[in-house]
Amino acid sequence: MKRYLHRIGSDLFNLIAPSLCPSCDAPLTPAERFYCDACRSSLEPAPFPRDIFSEVAGNFPGDELALEAVGSLYRFDPDSPVQRLIHALKYHGCYRLGVEMGRELATGLRMFRAFAGIDLVVPVPLHRARERERGYNQAEAIARGLAGAMPNVRMERALARRRHTISQTTLGAGARRANVINLFRATGVDVKGRRVLLCDDVCTTGATLNACAEQLLVVGAASVLAATVAKDGTPL
Ligand SMILES: [Zn+2]
Repeated sequence: MKRYLHRIGSDLFNLIAPSLCPSCDAPLTPAERFYCDACRSSLEPAPFPRDIFSEVAGNFPGDELALEAVGSLYRFDPDSPVQRLIHALKYHGCYRLGVEMGRELATGLRMFRAFAGIDLVVPVPLHRARERERGYNQAEAIARGLAGAMPNVRMERALARRRHTISQTTLGAGARRANVINLFRATGVDVKGRRVLLCDDVCTTGATLNACAEQLLVVGAASVLAATVAKDGTPL
């Protein structure tokens, strides 16, 4: 209910106030949706999925890699338009911006055969307390846009998050893996034999996505891929 009210609130706000670009605060023209054309054209494309995947795979020794592919739309740089858009999505109630970014992500992934044949889109879950506080899960907004733009693909909350952990942002790759072991559990949604696309806002080392993928494989998913709006940490 709170999530619903939150969304009605932000829709009403948009009706009475001129819409501003969530990245640069410029007023949006009627032709600009969600964010301005100047910010849109300054978004840096992410590396190709095969390059992101080999970088992520390098963070997982032996057979610990559960992901089959990883794709992102934009490169995540501090204080860049994409960083500000994701900040607006997470902290300023811009749920529909997330849905839009999910649609754009679906369009970007359509070019890559590695992402063909998806059955189900699953958002990386937030802890319940965090989701209540924020009003929604930003990964779910993206997942809705993604699934909506793929024919016959549904979004399902197939995972839940057990508890808060210490923030991943200051940890190296090995410590990140240890920090997320058993953090996620399957919710009982039937994923058996399905090709699942996990979805989140940003991928850094891939530790969170890989921990989610492990749980989906344990409950019978045929394969698990991941898609994020942005990729952080890739050297130029
Ligand atoms: Zn802008």
